[in-house]
Amino acid sequence: MKPFGSCHCGNITLEVATLPTEVTSCNCSLCRRYAGLWAYYEPADVVVHYQNPVKSFYIWGDRDIEHHRCHHCGCVTHYITTDKCPVKRIAVNARMADPALLEKMKIRLVDGASF
Ligand SMILES: [Zn+2]
Repeated sequence: MKPFGSCHCGNITLEVATLPTEVTSCNCSLCRRYAGLWAYYEPADVVVHYQNPVKSFYIWGDRDIEHHRCHHCGCVTHYITTDKCPVKRIAVNARMADPALLEKMKIRLVDGASF
């Protein structure tokens, strides 16, 4: 696993199997507010470490995705699909990555607002 990033206070740190070359910027009603840049993985390819085990997340609409944030500093670090979703996926927010790392990633725009 490779270090990917952390929330502002350092409570949540993220590791990924391989660093992404491309991340997604989505304009749906939630992503545009979070301003997240998402890199998608199989659940086994990401490790999320919590210093404080309290988990805080937001779930809405079809209730198939949990958007997780640090309960202390509020940074949105990752999302995971719930049991309701047939696809098991985790996405990490590249905004948590070091800027030098983020600079190397291509940003792909996704029109999530239209579907
Ligand atoms: Zn934090």
